[in-house]
Amino acid sequence: MPKKKKKNNNKISMNVTPERRKSILLYHDMRVEEDFELCAQRIFEVVKSAAKKYPGKPRFLWLSVQGHLNDLGGFDHDSFEIISNFIPEYLFPYLTEVKTPLMHVRNPHPQREDIPGLLIINPPEDGSEDKFDHHSFARRQREYLSDSRSSKPSVRSIAGYLGRDGSCQICWESTVERAHALPEALGGSNDVRNFALLCPYHHQMAPDVADAEAFWKWIDYSYDRDSHMREMGENVQQLLRKYIHEAVPNNSNRNNDYEKAKEGGFDQELIFELKNLYGWTQEELGGLLERRLVQEFNRVRRAATTNHRGVGRKVSTYAWAYNVALRRVKDEEKIRSERIIK
Ligand SMILES: [Zn+2]
Repeated sequence: MPKKKKKNNNKISMNVTPERRKSILLYHDMRVEEDFELCAQRIFEVVKSAAKKYPGKPRFLWLSVQGHLNDLGGFDHDSFEIISNFIPEYLFPYLTEVKTPLMHVRNPHPQREDIPGLLIINPPEDGSEDKFDHHSFARRQREYLSDSRSSKPSVRSIAGYLGRDGSCQICWESTVERAHALPEALGGSNDVRNFALLCPYHHQMAPDVADAEAFWKWIDYSYDRDSHMREMGENVQQLLRKYIHEAVPNNSNRNNDYEKAKEGGFDQELIFELKNLYGWTQEELGGLLERRLVQEFNRVRRAATTNHRGVGRKVSTYAWAYNVALRRVKDEEKIRSERIIK
């Protein structure tokens, strides 16, 4: 039986009803893995590329949101910013029609074509940049989670929250485990919002760190990296052929660079992840074994990561800890150079 799958691709363009035959439908699903910045960049790229490919054609943006609920059952901070700020304030002039969970509006003015080349997102004005505090190691979760339940929610309720069918969020495998975004050992809650559904393979690979956002980013990164693992049911393939003329993912194409890194062992895989998930430069990778960084790495690892089911040495956990360590080392270097100048 073909598996029932949710289409998660964010680059879908297709013709819909006859009266809209000449307009371009841009659909984006804000998955739970996406924070404000990732989501805004992706929607922006989709709009920009549609304008480039089909200049002048009316663009209809349709956004759906999965997960991203706050304590009161409303949209959390990131999704609310997308729906009530980014789309209506910034993107609307470049669109003809917009549909989000909170509104469905048509632009009374002609859609503009002069879309900026780059989307620059400024950090919040109050100076509270949304990053893991690499000095205090204070655990970071997505929202304030007041639920103090002592047992995990069921797979069904997690799937319901995520708006999914209960398969692995990365590879669509149907056997899943409940994975804490912020591990219990680091104070993570059993609130439904602190869970992902992952197959045993991806659960074992996922980072066990004090930063829930890093966990979600890792899922987002692995979703692309392991796309070849997803099998599409026949009905999904038919649907894709019928509606989508391009941007159909080629699942037979394995990520060769990643496969090679995996064959090279732990260190090669670590380098691959630092480069591709955390954006380390060649120069930064070259300093990976420097004493100062290794010392800092060990400090971070002891304070802000944990072991999961006896799997202590994980690439994803180590990569996160190295990345936090690098930020600490860089801060220290900056302070030192400022002292020298004075
Ligand atoms: Zn999986």
